Amino acid sequence: MALSFWEQRWLDKADIVVIGGGLVGLQTATELKNKFPHRKIWVIESSVLGDAASVRNAGFACFGSAGEILDDAERMGLDDALSLYGMRYQGLRKLIEKYGETVIGYENSGGNEIFTNPNEFEVVANKIDDLNRGLLQFHDSPAFRIKDLTKLGMNIHSHSIFSPLEGAIQSHLLHEAVRKQALSAGIELFSGIHVEQLEELPSKKWRLKCKNQGHNFNEFDIVAQKLVICTNGYTRLLLENEDVMPARGQVLVTKPIPELTFRGIFHADKGYIYFRSLGSRILIGGARNLAFEEEETTESISNDRLVVSLKNWLEKTIVPYAKVEIDHQWAGIMGMSNSRLPIIEQRAENLYLGVRMGGMGVALSALVSQKISDLVD
Ligand SMILES: Cc1cc2nc3c(=O)[nH]c(=O)nc-3n(C[C@H](O)[C@H](O)[C@H](O)COP(=O)(O)OP(=O)(O)OC[C@H]3O[C@@H](n4cnc5c(N)ncnc54)[C@H](O)[C@@H]3O)c2cc1C
Repeated sequence: MALSFWEQRWLDKADIVVIGGGLVGLQTATELKNKFPHRKIWVIESSVLGDAASVRNAGFACFGSAGEILDDAERMGLDDALSLYGMRYQGLRKLIEKYGETVIGYENSGGNEIFTNPNEFEVVANKIDDLNRGLLQFHDSPAFRIKDLTKLGMNIHSHSIFSPLEGAIQSHLLHEAVRKQALSAGIELFSGIHVEQLEELPSKKWRLKCKNQGHNFNEFDIVAQKLVICTNGYTRLLLENEDVMPARGQVLVTKPIPELTFRGIFHADKGYIYFRSLGSRILIGGARNLAFEEEETTESISNDRLVVSLKNWLEKTIVPYAKVEIDHQWAGIMGMSNSRLPIIEQRAENLYLGVRMGGMGVALSALVSQKISDLVD
């Protein structure tokens, strides 16, 4: 079915198009609108509700546990690992400054890295003084200290490595605030349009081959003077050579557990297992390290094997004293690579990328969107 004259007129109007309506795309569009108030800035998002990692995540406002930073340092060198921590820390400060703690449901609970194996605790604990020294460039107080967790009744080593500066948000509240701010800044947000293909025109503008998810599945083109790609885990579907692997993450939320003994966020197994309190419920996610290849997909469905493993964590390790029932279960897609750093680059004339937010993109998003907007002229 052909577009109407009016629809075509409307679609011919974009100056800058951002593909992806997650935390990064929406904040980037807002930054761009503040920078260029007279330009028409659009966000094109394929899903009306439900595909963005930004509303399928665990809501940790975290920067990386000591064990994760040490693991990252082995992959990418200590300097890059520390600088990634710094980007996340500064990103969270910026996010809170922009939207306010209450609006995004921020709780400064602190984060605990827990261990089931005392030897692994010793290895990490012996290195926190060095890490603390390296991280003082970002804040005045130590990033990590040792904390006694014996009273929690978990089946774990008695002590954790505590990060007092971490916390938790309510993901839907953050997304709502980011979306509202984008709309009130004057962004056009088109949900339900999937971009299937990109083409660079001789004029150096970009043609987006789009499909509308409405009744008639119209196919049509949008031409953008400048294009910003914020598609995170889905990036390779548009730009197949980018170093962004899709990585699926599994999440479960329990029914309320009246006798729950803890509040706050917890990481284990170098960050591959994470859980937090949600009132008297527990949200738990991860276990991707048990099935890296299966989880390298853009299909947002649960993996039964990993769900069983997460349930075992709940029953045997986290709340061995309580009956646990699962109330919610879902999966979401992250964008990863061996280099844990995000891609914030101009890729071609009038083409910019802000992708590969990894497993801690909430805190990163405010900083990344500012940096992408700085690149666009
Ligand atoms: C299960 C899970 C748990 C996580 N937990 C945490 C956590 O606790 N703390 C934390 O900091 N981070 C966490 N993350 C990571 C964090 O959610 C992401 O890094 C962050 O939300 C990325 O934001 P984004 O805007 O880059 O990507 P997304 O939120 O994924 O947004 C990208 C958008 O692009 C759209 N899109 C893609 N391709 C197209 C196309 N061709 N046409 C139109 N639209 C398109 C998608 O529909 C999507 O809405 C988690 C992620 C997952 C999946």
